[in-house]
Amino acid sequence: KIEVAALSKSFGDHQVLRSVNMSVGSGEVVALIGPSGSGKSTLLRCLNLLVTPDGGRVRVGGQSLDFGTSSKLPGTASLAKFRAGTGMVFQQFNLFPHKTVLGNVMEGPLTVRRMPRAEAETLARALLGKVGLAEKADQYPARLSGGQKQRVAIARALAMQPEIMLFDEATSALDPELVGEVLNVMRELAAEGMTMVIVTHEIAFAREVADRVVFLRDGVIVEDGPAKQVIDAPQQEATQAFLSHFH
Ligand code: ATP
Ligand code: MG
Repeated sequence: KIEVAALSKSFGDHQVLRSVNMSVGSGEVVALIGPSGSGKSTLLRCLNLLVTPDGGRVRVGGQSLDFGTSSKLPGTASLAKFRAGTGMVFQQFNLFPHKTVLGNVMEGPLTVRRMPRAEAETLARALLGKVGLAEKADQYPARLSGGQKQRVAIARALAMQPEIMLFDEATSALDPELVGEVLNVMRELAAEGMTMVIVTHEIAFAREVADRVVFLRDGVIVEDGPAKQVIDAPQQEATQAFLSHFH
């Protein structure tokens, strides 16, 4: 479960998030949509504290952190612990080029979770199987297609056994014919009950897979409702205008 309350963030004098309230139930899939610059990535990054909020509260699973003038910033240890509860997948895969696919997926369990090597390898191989890449374990990332790299990135995030998965335009950098294989892995995760927040421009995918769609504009949540309702019959003019670009 994720809960965000009165979350705010500015970069210089530009307020990017304006008192955002959002909650994501356990096992729920939320698609976050909105125009470029509306604050989607910033909101997602606040959920795993890659961006430090200026104010508000962020709760992920059993951990909750307060930000604001009166509260002191969480220390490195509590940030790291908090972050370990979330797995994030970016548009750019950021795989370690000098490690094999298996090495990439084992890295987090070995170094962050201090898992014994044999156990980390078993876990990594199972996750590579799950994303359909068991036979690529010994390859280097340079030899993979974009879709395969992104599936490795998903396996790598899952290897930390996060409570929630965050996807920031995970398919935007892919050639069109490779988008489907990555969406299929995401679809499967959703079906297994993973709690997910997905920033995406794949409106059809959001409609099909997400439980809820949240529309963000200028750092404000304009609309938040059941996926099919928001996409097929948006209530707000701004949402209608945004979605009309996709038809
Ligand atoms: P896109 O669809 O293009 O990815 P977005 O909704 O993800 O857009 P954000 O990346 O969250 O938007 O950015 C929101 C605003 O904050 C933009 O105006 C952006 O320029 C600004 N911004 C984001 N990160 C930083 C940063 N680290 N420093 C300064 N400004 C930033
Ligand atoms: Mg973004």
